[in-house]
Order: sequence, then C-alpha cells, then structure tokens
Amino acid sequence: MTDSPLILVIEDETSLTTLLRYNLESHRFRVASIENGGDAMGTIASIKPDLVLLDWMLPGVSGIEICRKIRRDPETHSLPVILLTARGEESDRVRGLDCGADDYVVKPFAISELIARIGAVLRRAAPTSAAQSLASGDIAMDLASHRVSRNGRSIHLGPTEYRLLRHFMEHPGRVLSRDHLLEAVWGRAVHIEQRTVDVHVRRLRQALNRDGEDDVIRTVRSAGYAFSG
Ligand code: CA
Repeated sequence: MTDSPLILVIEDETSLTTLLRYNLESHRFRVASIENGGDAMGTIASIKPDLVLLDWMLPGVSGIEICRKIRRDPETHSLPVILLTARGEESDRVRGLDCGADDYVVKPFAISELIARIGAVLRRAAPTSAAQSLASGDIAMDLASHRVSRNGRSIHLGPTEYRLLRHFMEHPGRVLSRDHLLEAVWGRAVHIEQRTVDVHVRRLRQALNRDGEDDVIRTVRSAGYAFSG
C-alpha cells in the first residue's frame, strides 16, 4: 500500500466526526467525511475509500440500508465497513452484522479500541497472496480476484465470509473451534464474542447453499465447525 488508507466517515454528529478525524489523522489515516447517508454511494464511487466508518442512526437513509447497498453493489461488495452504533441490544448487534458490516463499535467507544478494530479489518481485507485458486468439491475460489463460485454459479460474499470460507477451504475436514476461527479470521488483537463466528457462518451458509445442495459446513456440537466441500 503506497498511500495511507483512506477512511470515509459517514456520521451526522459533527462533534464526533471532528474527534474521529483528529484521531484518525494522528494515526496516519486519511479521512473524508459526509453527514448525509443519501450521499454515501456517490461519495464512495468517487473517492474509493479503503474503509467506511458508518453511523447506524443517520437522517434519511440509515446506516443499515447503506451497508446493504454497499454489499449489493459489485463495485463495493468487499469494501470493509465498521458500523458505529449507539444501540447496545444483542439483537441489534446481530442485525448490524447481518447487514454485512465487518465489525461494529458501540458508542461511546474508546478511540484506541476503534483504531485497533480498523487496523484488524484492514489487515484482513489486504490481499495476502498472488494469483492462485482453491477448489473443494463443487466450490472454487480465485485468490487473486476473490471470486467464489459453486457449481459454476457466482457466489457473492462479504469480506469476512470470504476469509472464513478461505480458511475452511485451506483446512478441509478439520474441526475448527470458534476460538480458532476468531484468531485465524478476525485476528488476535481484537476481542470479539464467540457468537460473532456463528453469525458469519450462518451468512456464509446462506450464500453458499441452494435448495438441494449439501451444506458444506458441518456444525460440530460443542466443538465448532468443519468444512467438507
Ligand atoms: Ca447519528
């Protein structure tokens, strides 16, 4: 990476944006910001950020809707997104991840924690290998283009589901515990609840499995998950 990563902050509280900008810039990130969710997709298309910090509660278009749009658009579907939320309820957290966010941070948060999470999400999103591919059963993964297909059908995955599938495909048949997956896929620096793994495995299954196709991810009771493509 030649330039420092560009972070787009989408947040209507200008005092928080000011604070974020100051702290992110002092950690050598470049920062752009908008207040209105309605401008999100156009701004992303024009400035091509490396990561989006997205407030959940925005006037007009909500953060959740923007996150879904980012995931649906082939140009942005692997763009890392961290959701900023004032909501603390578990169901809301799960909903936040269900919309395709890579991570979420509950307000009020410590800047150091946010910076650590940004670093972890960016590391996970960085390309790690030259052109190669993985294949297992009827699933194929191109490591250069990040394209995934099953039976020739193109599968669209968020960045976390992609890394999760890649790790599964690199360890076929092995029972992988939630702790193992958290460390391998999310990284050790960040504390994330074990059930986050379940949320992303569910999303991966929804993306991969069509009616009549075998579920390639086996839940191993009280142990974790195993891949059998
Ligand atoms: Ca807000």
